[in-house]
Amino acid sequence: MEGELCRMCGGDGRIGNALGRSTATCPGCHGSGRRADTSARFRDVTKTKQSHYQPAAAEAPKGPRGPTTAEGVQLAREVSESILLSEDTKARLLVEIVNHESTHGRCTQTFIKKIRKQARPGQPNL
Ligand SMILES: [Zn+2]
Repeated sequence: MEGELCRMCGGDGRIGNALGRSTATCPGCHGSGRRADTSARFRDVTKTKQSHYQPAAAEAPKGPRGPTTAEGVQLAREVSESILLSEDTKARLLVEIVNHESTHGRCTQTFIKKIRKQARPGQPNL
């Protein structure tokens, strides 16, 4: 039956790599040459063979976002280098910087001074 053949390898169960000579087991059918035709079965396969199915396109960066403007980066550095702030406060201020940037598009002087006052009290604002 034509519909049963794996679409990736055409039923060979193997696919050639870019160099041409060697072949690898087809990731579509794992060498069986048969198409994983139902979505349910396909999902099962992904569950057991996750390493073969890294959905690169679906992976969105999830890490903490950092500041994007020069002022924001500089400010974030001052916060993280501060010897006075606790880690909790640093994390909170960093979030504030990122939020402020996304709201205003940049760090306003007022905001920079406000953050600096906490990160480096007693030092002149330049
Ligand atoms: Zn195949």
